[in-house]
Amino acid sequence: MAEIELRNVEKHFGLVHVIKNVNLTVKDKEFVVFLGPSGCGKTTTLRAIAGLEEIDSGDILLDGKPIQNLRAADRDIAFVFQNYALYPHFTVYENLAFPLRAVGTSKDQIDSIVKSVGQSLGILHLLKSRPSSLSGGDMQRVAIGRALVRRPKALLLDEPIGSLDAKLRETMRLELKRLHLENGSTSIYVTHDQVEAMSLADRIVVMHDGMLQQVGTPTEVYLHPANLFVAQFIGSPVMNISATKVSEANGNAQIELDSARFDLPLDLLGMLEQKKAAADLSLGVRPEGVLVSHNDQPGYRPVVAHIIQPFGGFDIVDLKVGEKTLRARTTSGFIGKAGDRVWARIDPAQAHFFDTKSGASLDIRLGE
Ligand code: ATP
Repeated sequence: MAEIELRNVEKHFGLVHVIKNVNLTVKDKEFVVFLGPSGCGKTTTLRAIAGLEEIDSGDILLDGKPIQNLRAADRDIAFVFQNYALYPHFTVYENLAFPLRAVGTSKDQIDSIVKSVGQSLGILHLLKSRPSSLSGGDMQRVAIGRALVRRPKALLLDEPIGSLDAKLRETMRLELKRLHLENGSTSIYVTHDQVEAMSLADRIVVMHDGMLQQVGTPTEVYLHPANLFVAQFIGSPVMNISATKVSEANGNAQIELDSARFDLPLDLLGMLEQKKAAADLSLGVRPEGVLVSHNDQPGYRPVVAHIIQPFGGFDIVDLKVGEKTLRARTTSGFIGKAGDRVWARIDPAQAHFFDTKSGASLDIRLGE
């Protein structure tokens, strides 16, 4: 059992306020990913949990017991760094055995643990090699192995595959997922790569400027972003965001995007009123929420294809809507060429509304 809890955690570096009143519970066996842009405080928060960084105030609890005053070595939490930090003059076997020797584990036990961890990481054939002869992926496997041999209560990983090439990152992502399914230790993983976060996490913690923006499953943060920051940070290509006005026309709610108007269900007006929505509204819609047709159909507006990016399995198309661009995702080759006229509408179930000033989502769910 290993539950990690942060209560009102604060941290400054000089005048820079790096962690701002962070509250979070990571459940036993959960895989939580801290995701956010560079400098938002992910690593500092992780290092504070590990005991590598002191906090100014608040509590860090492991299984309900405060640990913020314990030394890193006494916290029973293992840390994997982006730079592998292996001992170059030791073999892989010795690197894996080192943390066990340090606590007086018997020779036989060390041998059995090193071989079992080596087996689960697929590095048994490398036990006699030295780090300098290993690939980046294998070095990181050894670094993870070294964190696992002590069977820590929790595993903290700081961009552990950030320095590997894209293809190897994909392989390692799957291996990390398998490893977590097998050994199930409570894990916190730091990355600024949203694909990594989406594919690995039970829950994602989106951070910005030292504050938690949203905590939720990958599906929750993708489908129901809590604010404009999360909406634009998660998803590639990014969500279309535009200032909008809503009025009633011909039995529909009509939203204005520049000079173009799109119809949405009339219910929207009642929902906005109920949420006491301010006048400054922003509409958000992901490219897959912009529906494109070759024909003029009810609810569709004429638009002109501007730039087409083929991705193989699908196309991303910039549609000109007055002076604005609305980015759509279509099936591959759906629009023949730039300059073609097509028709577009906004899928009500995929329309998001935000208060432009505060950035907060109004949590309006049409068509659900
Ligand atoms: P990255 O992905 O770039 O590592 P991050 O989200 O992990 O970013 P942190 O490394 O936690 O962010 O840094 C948060 C802020 O604290 C940054 O402004 C950084 O410059 C500052 N910072 C981090 N470590 C120190 C330090 N030891 N001394 C002073 N400032 C620091």
